[in-house]
Amino acid sequence: TKYVYLFEEGRADMKNILGGKGANLAEMTRAGLPVPPGFTVTTTACNEYYRAGRTLTNTMKEQIEQGLAELERRTGKKLGSVQNPLLVSVRSGSVYSMPGMMDTVLNLGLNDETVEGLASLTANPRFAYDCYRRFLQMFGSVVLGIDHFHFEHILDEVKEHYGFTQDPELREEHWKEVIQAYKALVKKHTRADFPQDPREQLMRAIQAVFQSWNNQRAIVYRRIHKIPDDLGTAVNVQMMVFGNMGDDSGTGVAFTRNPSTGEKELFGEFLVRAQGEDVVAGIRTPQPIHALRERMPDIYSQFTKIAELLEKHYKDMQDIEFTVERGRLFILQTRNGKRTAHAAVKIAVDLVKEQIINKEEAIMRIDPHSLDQLLHRRIDPAAKLDVLAKGLPASPGAASGHVVFDADTAERWASEGKRVILVRPETTPEDIHGILAAQGIITSRGGMTSHAAVVARGMGKPCICGCEMIRIDLRKKECTIREETIHEGDLISIDGGTGRVLRGAVPLIDPELSAEFQQLLTWADEVRKMEVRANADNPEDAAKARAFGAQGIGLCRTEHMFMEPERVPIVQEMILAETEEERTEALEKLLPMQQRDFEGILREMEGLPVTIRLLDPPLHEFLPNMESLIVELTQMRLSGEDPRTIRQKENLLRKVRALQEFNPMLGHRGCRLGMTFPEIYAMQVKAIFQATVKLQQEGLDVRPEVMIPLVGHVNELKAMRDLVLQVAAQVREETGHPVVCPIGTMIEIPRAALTADEIAAEADFFSFGTNDLTQTTYGFSRDDAEGKFLHKYVQHKILPDNPFEVLDRHGVGKLIQMATELGRAVKSDIKLGICGEHGGEKSSIECCYQIGLDYVSCSPFRVPLARLAAAQATI
Ligand code: ADP
Ligand code: MG
Ligand code: MG
Repeated sequence: TKYVYLFEEGRADMKNILGGKGANLAEMTRAGLPVPPGFTVTTTACNEYYRAGRTLTNTMKEQIEQGLAELERRTGKKLGSVQNPLLVSVRSGSVYSMPGMMDTVLNLGLNDETVEGLASLTANPRFAYDCYRRFLQMFGSVVLGIDHFHFEHILDEVKEHYGFTQDPELREEHWKEVIQAYKALVKKHTRADFPQDPREQLMRAIQAVFQSWNNQRAIVYRRIHKIPDDLGTAVNVQMMVFGNMGDDSGTGVAFTRNPSTGEKELFGEFLVRAQGEDVVAGIRTPQPIHALRERMPDIYSQFTKIAELLEKHYKDMQDIEFTVERGRLFILQTRNGKRTAHAAVKIAVDLVKEQIINKEEAIMRIDPHSLDQLLHRRIDPAAKLDVLAKGLPASPGAASGHVVFDADTAERWASEGKRVILVRPETTPEDIHGILAAQGIITSRGGMTSHAAVVARGMGKPCICGCEMIRIDLRKKECTIREETIHEGDLISIDGGTGRVLRGAVPLIDPELSAEFQQLLTWADEVRKMEVRANADNPEDAAKARAFGAQGIGLCRTEHMFMEPERVPIVQEMILAETEEERTEALEKLLPMQQRDFEGILREMEGLPVTIRLLDPPLHEFLPNMESLIVELTQMRLSGEDPRTIRQKENLLRKVRALQEFNPMLGHRGCRLGMTFPEIYAMQVKAIFQATVKLQQEGLDVRPEVMIPLVGHVNELKAMRDLVLQVAAQVREETGHPVVCPIGTMIEIPRAALTADEIAAEADFFSFGTNDLTQTTYGFSRDDAEGKFLHKYVQHKILPDNPFEVLDRHGVGKLIQMATELGRAVKSDIKLGICGEHGGEKSSIECCYQIGLDYVSCSPFRVPLARLAAAQATI
């Protein structure tokens, strides 16, 4: 097996074995860009390393030696040589970019002798010792496992002692002092001297990078991003170039377009006298890339040309790492840049306009789930704002929450249901769980390409960086802005688009869709074959759905209409009725209310179908809860309440008891209610039909569809269908106006799917209720399963996903497929859709398309997502 590839030997399409970084370094080398020479140890080697019991096999070691020899030949330098030492970086790089999650060691090859060599060779001892101390620290933490903190502590002490504030102020003698202390630290922790042999350093560093594939933060990152655990990482060994050689040197990161807005402009940062890590780590706040234009105009123009070339080559916005060594430019990395959803959409649409990609490619570029971010609320422009501080607008969006100063608290408070804003001096990959839990992030140090900024943009969370006005005291858990102190728990808001930190919680308003977003969705509509409907229960949601492009309502739940506070007493009256007359009386009061509801929705959805589901939940959901009733009753008795009132309460309690069920979700609900209380369904249908007639008489084109829930046996549907037809006849008689209305059913019980042919004979349409269908297929009670064991199942990969979020293709999907085939065999034009939560999830939407459904229905805010996902399924 070939474990080692020189950069010259690789290509961009070899990501699987070279990792993203290695493959792109190879591609750039081929293209003749100024990339320092090097070689890549493959991901295959990494997996082999683990299989061999975490050791480098002899074959691997030999090939690494060969790669090294070739590198030495090309550079004319030698690893360990004092006259002309070769220094290398040992860099991780997996197939999927996992920025900052794994480890990298720079300046490897230095020891007590080669550092002298480097000093005299460059006539720059200050630089040489700076490199050595960096190497000691990186090797010490990455390979020897000594916490960063210890090294930083030593450095801080030396700086404080000499009264320095910034690293570049330290001179040769100071670095020597730091180095002595570092070596003592290593000795104390490892009971051995710092390894002086460069070959040993190299082999150990390669192993450490392999190991870093399985460090905690990389594991967490993979879990969040659903990256498989068995890919392994490649290792890149590359000749060092030095941005820390002097004022004509430096290092930077730049995006070819603005990763927040998508605007076509070079966007990035540059730090003079620095090595790579300094920029991303946010140790010093760097200068904007444009400063380079004045400082090093030649480098700037050379860089812009390369940036343009790379973007054209990869047909996507690039995130480029570069270093300038004594006026010479080197490119160290390029990758497709992370961006906000807003930027992603703009960039994709712009690239089509620039004829770099086509419409289909643009559609495929956008993760449908990221669109959520575009529908996020923003600060009401009319609101009066109290601006506390301003920092860099690192990731747009607005959020309010309670201030916390560490990731653990952020996570804990969020799990208690609090919204939090995480405030840190800077963030590191160890804070990832806190960032995940927070509504937004503020850092006092670091720039637009710092860790916090990149991660927040990736997650679509608002973030402000480099907010230097904020002085944070982590020990006291407070920070000060000018004179004012802000404590943990205080409420603040952030506006990531402008970089403003605001006092208190500010009012937010609904977003508007950008022109590019509309454009992309129009392209999606051109290619998709499935319709997209929305689940909406009231005219406001219906209007929203329509505005987002819904082609009808796939699920209008009628129970929400029963839950309105002023109606609950009447609904309870209806439930508590002892006789049919009493019940009819209550229902008559509800009828005009329901009719108004339907009129509102049907009017809003003029010209489009509206599927109305008859009452579904068990009746006890409309009654007070038993425990509180008992408490109330006891209190009434103790306080000597009027016996008549007490008797009423007792009646209520009796009824509540009688309606109690062991498994309410499998109990008296859905069409089972309609079977036992036909007058309830009759009232609802009457309301639908009367509303229809009224609007049709006004000349409106309204298209209701009546849907019967929870059918398991065709006879249930038959009975309910007869009931609906009966009411239709009655309404026609009363109004003299015929009502034509499709009558269909939900398929949400496995038996219904299995006997879909029989059911199809009685149904004009099927709507797959995949929430219940998943519950009943798995035998999981959704409300119990999610909290109790499902998350464990997912964590331990017993199940690939939570089946309530992502449709289970093999089980539930198979039932849908079967029902589709059975149903169509009997009735070829039967209309088929899905109305469960899955209708707004991309992989489930793809599954629906493959099965051949006519439409998906989802919540109004998910409609744009579904339009895009339905298009992607087609491509
Ligand atoms: P990450 O994946 O965390 O970005 P990298 O391997 O890209 O890690 O390296 C970390 C930093 O070190 C980057 O800023 C990179 O540009 C810099 N770096 C890596 N290799 C070299 C090199 N050969 N010469 C100079 N700087 C380097
Ligand atoms: Mg990098
Ligand atoms: Mg259901």
